[in-house]
Amino acid sequence: MSFLLGLGVGVVLGAYSFFGRARAREKETKESFEEIEAALQRILGGKDLSPGLGLGLPFRGRKIANLIRNMHQSLRGLQEETKEENARVLAVLEGMVDGIVYIDQEGSLLLANREAIRLLELPAKRWMRQNFEELFRNEASKSLLRRCLEDRRRQDLEIEHYNSILEMSAVPLEEGGVNRGAILVLRDVTSLRKLQMGRRAFVANVSHEFRTPLTAILGYCDTLLHDPDIPKEDRIQALERIFAQANRLEELVKDLLQLAQIEAGPRSGSQRKMFSPLELMTSVYEAFSPQALEKEIHLSLEKGRAPARVLSDQEALRQILENLVSNAIRYTADGGRIYLRCFAQGEDLLFEVEDTGIGIDREHLNRIFERFYRTDPARTRFRGGTGLGLAIVKHLSQRLGGHVQVRSEVGKGSTFALKIPGAVLREG
Ligand code: ADP
Repeated sequence: MSFLLGLGVGVVLGAYSFFGRARAREKETKESFEEIEAALQRILGGKDLSPGLGLGLPFRGRKIANLIRNMHQSLRGLQEETKEENARVLAVLEGMVDGIVYIDQEGSLLLANREAIRLLELPAKRWMRQNFEELFRNEASKSLLRRCLEDRRRQDLEIEHYNSILEMSAVPLEEGGVNRGAILVLRDVTSLRKLQMGRRAFVANVSHEFRTPLTAILGYCDTLLHDPDIPKEDRIQALERIFAQANRLEELVKDLLQLAQIEAGPRSGSQRKMFSPLELMTSVYEAFSPQALEKEIHLSLEKGRAPARVLSDQEALRQILENLVSNAIRYTADGGRIYLRCFAQGEDLLFEVEDTGIGIDREHLNRIFERFYRTDPARTRFRGGTGLGLAIVKHLSQRLGGHVQVRSEVGKGSTFALKIPGAVLREG
């Protein structure tokens, strides 16, 4: 009996301790799972893992905790790399001169760089995931994207948008045969097109300028060749005209070459050096005195206020002054007056060429520095000149870091003023 009782108590105690251990293990397992679950939640929430993760767990639990820690670390590394990669791509996109827009297959904007936002006038920060049909103001850009999404083919277009010319390309995107929307590339080609238009107009102008003297030369040559009985005086007159027209062509070629050289950049010999502006003015004055005398124009040089020494490109300044004085003589009637002066304004050097000539109407003042621009094409061409003098003056002045301005009144005369900042050297 007592044996049976002992057995019974033993069984009960054994079962009790067995179930007790099982419960304790179950509790531990539950706690392990809870800790691991919490750790996974932290990873999902982008938080750091607690440093003591897994410390209180049994061997198996610590192993899993270690695995989670390693996994978390490599995930972090991957995230950092992706972040850096994204930042690099965004920096490249933002720095691009072209506008870039990426839309998905439904037409929602997923990406737009700064230039695209500017060109398409997208609402700042409110364009993300909006449909281009609602966002874009320009009908042409909408239909371009629509066609690209429908036909799955590249579409190109150039449009005028307010005062700009925009070049646009819509390119469909595909990945493994799956439609991934489209990329829209926008480029502001306004200055490029203006440059091309300017070049075309320039070539047309040059051809026109060449044609007039060439036609005259050919005409006189034709007469001389086919009329053997031409009187001597007429022959001499024809030859003189050929000579004059050939001279005009030479002047034109010279000015064109000079302009091309200036536009191409600084001359190899271009140097700033110290010189006396008065000596420069005097030599220009002497060079043009005979021409002025021929027209009985009173050319005077005001010596009083010129600074002793300046630092600039003397040869460039000489070309500027020669062009201005030769214009003053050309556009001043016989018996008129021309004044040359040079003075300092602080450290700035100023040259002025003033004439009592025909003057320039206000409407032309902004344009006379353009190549081949003439206030009265028929009359001014008759006076000679290539139409390039003031364009050369403007470009040379800019290269010296200065600028040229004109004041004028029709019938009274004009004053061209050239300012070279910082060219005057202090005495001593
Ligand atoms: P051009 O060879 O025809 O003189 P420029 O470029 O030197 O060419 O000058 C452009 C135009 O500006 C001239 O055709 C003329 O109409 C006007 N112009 C220039 N200088 C003067 C001036 N001193 N007085 C009046 N008009 C001028």
